[in-house]
Amino acid sequence: MTENRYRPLILDASALITGFNPADVENEQYTVPLVEEELKRGLTSVRLKTSIRTGKLKVKTPKKAFLEEVEREAERVGDSLLLSEADKQVLALALELKSAGEKPIIVTDDYSIQNLARSMNIEFKPLTTFGIKFRYRWILFCSACGRIYPPRKKVRVCRVCGTPLIRKYFKKECARK
Ligand SMILES: [Zn+2]
Repeated sequence: MTENRYRPLILDASALITGFNPADVENEQYTVPLVEEELKRGLTSVRLKTSIRTGKLKVKTPKKAFLEEVEREAERVGDSLLLSEADKQVLALALELKSAGEKPIIVTDDYSIQNLARSMNIEFKPLTTFGIKFRYRWILFCSACGRIYPPRKKVRVCRVCGTPLIRKYFKKECARK
């Protein structure tokens, strides 16, 4: 990563949950409000809050035009139901930084984000690049009735109560190599 030292990193939920520590790298680093929201109650929140307070990690809301561009592309690629609003913000922020002449890199283990990043010509790096040893899993979760659905199922809303499902990440294990 030394050659990429001056490029801004955009951290998604998977990056922050799996133990990526913003204090460990020199790069300028960003995340988006919905990722912060998603992780607020988790175990990572102390590190997250510290990074934000010290200015090491900047929380930036992408402009609407870039979000719309991401939504259009997600529809076109057919990935829109696997992308959360937080994921879309991450991708939109990357587009925004690109349009400002920067060369952002999204740090993510999320296949849906990687897919869309590829099709939009946005660079990304999986967490193994940074020597992260933790693995995570995610599920689809109904916030109204609490039902849980396995990931990758082509379901957008809860079959029982019709509430839109949200993704929840949790750390699974420490996978040492
Ligand atoms: Zn439900």
